[in-house]
Amino acid sequence: MFNKAKRIQELPPYLFAEIDRKKRAAQAKGVDLIDLGIGDPDIPTPGRIIQRLTETVTKPANHRYPSSAGMMEFRQAVADWYGRRFGVTLDAATEVVSLIGSKEGVANMAVAYVDPGDVVLVPTPAYPVYEIGTKFNGGEVFFLPLRRESGFLPDLSSIPADVLKRAKMLWLNYPNNPTGAVADEGFLKEAVEFARRHGIILCHDAAYTELGFDGYRAPSILQVEGAKEVAIEFHSLSKTFNMTGWRIAMAVGCPELVATLAQVKSNVDSGVFQPVQEAAILALEHAEEFLGPIREVYQERRDAVVDGLHRAGFELPAPKATFYVWLPVPGGWTSTDFTARLLDEAGIVTTPGNGFGEPGEGFIRMTLCSPADRLREAVERLQQLSL
Ligand SMILES: *Cc1c(COP(=O)(O)O)cnc(C)c1O
Repeated sequence: MFNKAKRIQELPPYLFAEIDRKKRAAQAKGVDLIDLGIGDPDIPTPGRIIQRLTETVTKPANHRYPSSAGMMEFRQAVADWYGRRFGVTLDAATEVVSLIGSKEGVANMAVAYVDPGDVVLVPTPAYPVYEIGTKFNGGEVFFLPLRRESGFLPDLSSIPADVLKRAKMLWLNYPNNPTGAVADEGFLKEAVEFARRHGIILCHDAAYTELGFDGYRAPSILQVEGAKEVAIEFHSLSKTFNMTGWRIAMAVGCPELVATLAQVKSNVDSGVFQPVQEAAILALEHAEEFLGPIREVYQERRDAVVDGLHRAGFELPAPKATFYVWLPVPGGWTSTDFTARLLDEAGIVTTPGNGFGEPGEGFIRMTLCSPADRLREAVERLQQLSL
């Protein structure tokens, strides 16, 4: 009856609809499904973080509108944590803004800077919001394929000159969802130099820097000299502290970019509930204490899955970070067909790689958001399949 806005009409069809339908049908039949589809921690938020929320929720001052940019105490806690963790100095007042989850910040970054006709450089496969945010604001997406041969890093030198001329913004995400790939400081340096040379805003989505294994600690893009002139980094407490439902994150870096994002936010939202910010301060202050056990859990799970897959004859590297395993599908199968087969014949829910972008064809994504014994059961079922 009512015409949807063009930007909504133009949204791509929901790629997972078929998987969702099959998943519900299998559940209805009583199949013991193992869900390796969702990228959402199954482990609860650490108790002390919850306790800080319950202590602060009764204060009447916390029942009023928060500032949309975030409490000064929260922004200072972010700055202090960046100093300890990355050796990066941030001014809490001008270089940090709170977000209602980094998804919000990613989407609003396009509101802040993308005009119709602007080009945004977006990796593919990728978290979908970089593309959608661009298109919602009339921008054009130029995709940068992430391929296994190149370590799932984009080739910045491959971008045609006419595209570069119109390019406003570049998105990067390391450690990477969905590929589990990491970028070293050398690549981040190259990206900063590229952005500076061409006058492009560099947006780095750093949601997974804290989930590193075997002692690996991912860098912040702000460690690169000169990054603060062109780069804004999106970070989040969601994946780091099992707080996806709390909705708290931050954008940090170039003061001009942070200010414009804050300006957008002051017009569309009213910030993060203050007790959530109070709890986040405690989380950041004691980050390493909370993260030790969290990293251990994911590392055990990663080993269970990767070892099992190796035994089943798959060749893939163990991811150094993130809770994703990016599995090449056996020869002759498409991502979609292999995903369907795992569901039909083994009761395992996974995500076809092409759902994150065409170059993801030939891979499926498995998440480590289930207990280790369930993951072991999943790879045992997989080994039973004749592939
Ligand atoms: C989960 C995820 C986000 C969103 O995190 P929130 O802070 O919960 O909104 C952003 N980027 C990537 C790559 C993610 O995987």
